[in-house]
Amino acid sequence: MLNDIRKDYLLDRWVVIATHRGRRPTDFTRKKTTTSRRDSSCPFCPGNERKTPPAVLVYLKGDGGIIKKADTNGTRHQGWLIRCVPNLYSAFSPPERGESFKAGKAVGHHEVLVESPIHNEHPGVARISQLIHVINGYSDRLRVLLKKPYVKYVSIFRNHGLDAGASLSHTHSQIIATPIIPPTPHNELEACKKFHKESGNCILCEVIQKERNSPRFIWENESFIAFAPWAAVHPFEFWIIPKEHQGTLLELQHKTVEDLANALKTCLGGLNSLLNDPPYNFGFHMAPNKETKKLYHWHLEVYPKLTIWAGFEKSTGIYINVVPPEDSAQNMRQTIANLPQD
Ligand SMILES: [Zn+2]
Ligand SMILES: [Zn+2]
Ligand SMILES: [Zn+2]
Repeated sequence: MLNDIRKDYLLDRWVVIATHRGRRPTDFTRKKTTTSRRDSSCPFCPGNERKTPPAVLVYLKGDGGIIKKADTNGTRHQGWLIRCVPNLYSAFSPPERGESFKAGKAVGHHEVLVESPIHNEHPGVARISQLIHVINGYSDRLRVLLKKPYVKYVSIFRNHGLDAGASLSHTHSQIIATPIIPPTPHNELEACKKFHKESGNCILCEVIQKERNSPRFIWENESFIAFAPWAAVHPFEFWIIPKEHQGTLLELQHKTVEDLANALKTCLGGLNSLLNDPPYNFGFHMAPNKETKKLYHWHLEVYPKLTIWAGFEKSTGIYINVVPPEDSAQNMRQTIANLPQD
């Protein structure tokens, strides 16, 4: 039986879907490990705030709601709900004071958003109230960073587990503001522009309508839908996307923030439960500026890290996915249906 070869919705990227030697979730399940709520050597745990640079944003509990503050050099706020700090090993740094922006320098920002004071409160197991703070924290930093004259794009992403590149196990995401639009969002955006010019519509709005009734559908609530993409390059890859057209996280409303928190918890909780807390990466793809908001539909891409790309992938840019997205979606649907409700 021949395998399928499929092209991505947007990118000129091909994947071979190994339909006849498709693997099952149990082939990827990891052994049980336990993580603790607190770790005295962890720089992100409460009490160790001095092990990081001063926070650019902390959420504190106030009587009338959340109070937003920043640390100064000498002080570190305690009792925080989330905390966003510059990365100690920053890939991109702001220009020096008074220095004009020169092309060819990695100017930008590289921050770590500590998602909870509880060491192991990862999104798949987190309280919804805490995930709401995390999403609001992303939006707050996005709003500030997009205003910098040298910033062209802001990438918000998460590495979970050592094999997915997380050197610290305390629950956190990263935010990198770059002086260029990186190739993947750039190429996606170009494909969206082309489609919009030809049809007057958003291509991802159309993809949502198709995938909602396809065997790749995973889960939905009022505002979000999750599905395994047609040309998934990773086993158990899935996307979360707002049903209404939105260019960036800045268009979220109070109610949709909560719906996104539920979507994160349900889908990442499903992945956790299906494969016993596998390593994964996720990244938001968003419109880089006001002009592209109508054309580009933001989405979150989640890539479980279960296989290693080797010679063929690296030398050709064609991927081989040993789990058809139709199978991974079916497994995710069943697992999510059996998740404990809280
Ligand atoms: Zn910690
Ligand atoms: Zn759209
Ligand atoms: Zn994308």
